[in-house]
Amino acid sequence: MDEFSLIADFFKSKAIQAPNVVVGIGDDAACLQVPSGMDLLVTTDTLVSNVHFLPQWNPYDIACKAVMVNVSDIAAMGGIPCWASLALTLPHIDTTWLSAFSSGIQKSLEKFNIALIGGDTTKGPLSITITMHGFVPSGKAVKRSGAKAGDLIFVTGELGAAALAVKGLTTHTIEPLHQEFLMQQLNHPVPRVDLSSLLRKYATSAIDVSDGLTQDLNHICMSSQVGASLIKEAIPIHPLVSQYLKQDALAFSMQGGEDYVLCFTVSKAQVDSFLNEMTKVNMICYCIGSIEKEPGLRFKIREGEFEPCYYSGYKHF
Ligand code: ADP
Ligand code: MG
Repeated sequence: MDEFSLIADFFKSKAIQAPNVVVGIGDDAACLQVPSGMDLLVTTDTLVSNVHFLPQWNPYDIACKAVMVNVSDIAAMGGIPCWASLALTLPHIDTTWLSAFSSGIQKSLEKFNIALIGGDTTKGPLSITITMHGFVPSGKAVKRSGAKAGDLIFVTGELGAAALAVKGLTTHTIEPLHQEFLMQQLNHPVPRVDLSSLLRKYATSAIDVSDGLTQDLNHICMSSQVGASLIKEAIPIHPLVSQYLKQDALAFSMQGGEDYVLCFTVSKAQVDSFLNEMTKVNMICYCIGSIEKEPGLRFKIREGEFEPCYYSGYKHF
């Protein structure tokens, strides 16, 4: 099997057809139509073997993760994903691996009706790069830079499960059934595209939590030139993280990463309407603190009393 039949068999044949894809897989470049009134969002994430996953992991899971982390970035901007391209570097052609991998790509793209519009296939150490495109109504992209003093800070889900899965792989201290559950959380994050329209309506800033809450919230603060006070008891720690890490659970869940929940801010004036709308559509989120003028992150213990916040999160270099 050569590179061209590989592309045809595993990727071209499985791609969703979409009317806004004028030219898809098979030419020198894709040709795409952005609907009028929409801005185009573009994001790229790479998963590298032995860094983001182990080569022996299920290729279906690896593929799903590669798609979902990119979809999460589009969701964090308040967008709806539409097109993806896939740059795949493989050490050799293994059709069993490719069959499972391409099913994972297909199934996860199908979930959000995303068309695969092209890519690149090369030989080398296993790595997967996806470029995801999305639409957002013109001028409505939710940025990191819009948080204002007084805004409340929310996260959409519990923290720390994915990081605990990674820890369990080396410490072997987690019960097998729990480890299996945690691996599912690690490999199948759920991007919050369902929240995109509410984010556009209410969020003053947003980010997806990929490198740990403190690090990612700090990005919002730096971009918005503000700081944040967090309430320890309000941080939604995953119950298994509390169970296994006891008094270290809070620090761990805030620095772990790969949660792919959204962290966003809403102005005080808008917060009641926002929460009403969330309730109407049966969605929950956790208010964890508030934005303040004073730069940096801290825990607010009580009025006027603060503690420093844990800072580190995942960094490649
Ligand atoms: P070129 O040599 O012009 O860069 P390629 O031979 O690399 O083109 O790719 C042929 C076509 O297949 C292009 O349309 C490209 O976008 C697409 N393609 C290559 N690899 C992949 C892949 N892994 N998944 C989806 N499409 C791919
Ligand atoms: Mg060419």
